[in-house]
Amino acid sequence: MARYTGAKCKLCRREGMKLFLKGERCYSSSCAMERRPHPPGQHGRRRGRKPSDYKLQLREKQKVRSIYGVLERQFRLYYAEANRRSGPTGENLFNILEKRLDNVVYRMGLAPSRDSARQLVRHKHVLVDGQVCDIPSAELRLGQEVAIRGKSKNIPTVSEAVKAATRRERLPFVEVDDQKMSGKLIAEPQLGDLPIPIQENLIVELYSKV
Ligand code: SF4
Repeated sequence: MARYTGAKCKLCRREGMKLFLKGERCYSSSCAMERRPHPPGQHGRRRGRKPSDYKLQLREKQKVRSIYGVLERQFRLYYAEANRRSGPTGENLFNILEKRLDNVVYRMGLAPSRDSARQLVRHKHVLVDGQVCDIPSAELRLGQEVAIRGKSKNIPTVSEAVKAATRRERLPFVEVDDQKMSGKLIAEPQLGDLPIPIQENLIVELYSKV
């Protein structure tokens, strides 16, 4: 599956906020947003004009794509599916994104970043209800158990991620057993629970124009 392979920190600098794309580094003083909190590029430090509505909508959509590591085509498909489901489209969209298997592995603290979680899933280190699932975009249902497979628990990336996650507060919609390296989605993810502020209405406005 295609994915963005460029510099992650540039994505944060472009959006002007920490998007937490690089695991522990994001919590340290090495974070690029601590050292260079301006947009990348030659003219990054210039004060721009007041952004247009379109620019605000586009940046919000790009920010969310960067956070979840989803390319444009797939993001549009998610939007179409969110629009098809009953309820507010913006909330449906986040519900779909948050329930992706790679995101849940990351939210449970079983991997330091979504990229790392995606790799663990792809390499068959993750079980869903006791069965190997190697599809990072698989949508989980409430109550399904996600666990790190037997010997894979000894992978340093996993054990270090679990250790680091125990030092931080977990989101209220996941329940994790750090000893067993497993957990469950126990509630529907709510936008208000997320650590990064997101204005989903801007994304809906952007896509409903085209
Ligand atoms: Fe973003 Fe800082 Fe993490 Fe780089 S280290 S991805 S700038 S939060």
